[in-house]
Amino acid sequence: MILGARLILLGRQGAGKGTQCVRLSRQFVVPHISTGDMLRMAEREGSELGRTAKLVMDSGGLVGDEIMVGLIRERLSQPDAVGRGYILDGFPRTVPQAVALDEITADLPIDVVIDLDVPREMVLNRLSARRVCRDCGTNYVSSGIEKLPWICEVCGGDVMRRDDDTPEAIMHRLDLYEEQTAPLIDFYQSNGRLTIIDGVASADEVSRRITEAVAEARSKR
Ligand code: AMP
Repeated sequence: MILGARLILLGRQGAGKGTQCVRLSRQFVVPHISTGDMLRMAEREGSELGRTAKLVMDSGGLVGDEIMVGLIRERLSQPDAVGRGYILDGFPRTVPQAVALDEITADLPIDVVIDLDVPREMVLNRLSARRVCRDCGTNYVSSGIEKLPWICEVCGGDVMRRDDDTPEAIMHRLDLYEEQTAPLIDFYQSNGRLTIIDGVASADEVSRRITEAVAEARSKR
């Protein structure tokens, strides 16, 4: 087991980032920091941030860079992240966020940025069938017919379709991804920190490919 890592996972929504992040977080014993989960938590707590974020999330838009950078700056300053590292899921989403992240992590830079590559048509199908535990975030796949309420096997929470997994919001998020997040791939590629992983394979095989990429990136340091 290798302890500690500072990783970013990029990829379209539905590319399997959530599943891989949970595995990587166990493997490297680091926190899985998902900005989407942080915003959904704020929403459930009923904070002002949560209320603002809900409106944006339900429409499939992006929360402002300033708010998101503030959230991540705070989170990455916590002892677990400073001491062991982290896996970032959902951040950065825009080039200005990536530039701010470089500044935040200047002393302890990111090891590697992984782009989990899955074609748009494939993620569309996956997202339509995606169901998520609203308490612990475990992902499930709907067969189309299920008995309700659907109880999470991991924590006993309610498993449901995310409010922003409607077909319209999914299309909008994928369009936004192409527009705003795809330039991140150029950003990280241009400074040699990106590894593209083919995400069309079983979860185990994708995990194996990611672990190999992390080991390779570390051996070059
Ligand atoms: P996710 O769970 O990563 O799909 O995020 C759900 C929603 O949260 C996104 O559709 C955005 O509205 C918002 N969000 C999450 N992370 C970010 C970010 N880094 N920048 C802007 N908005 C974000």
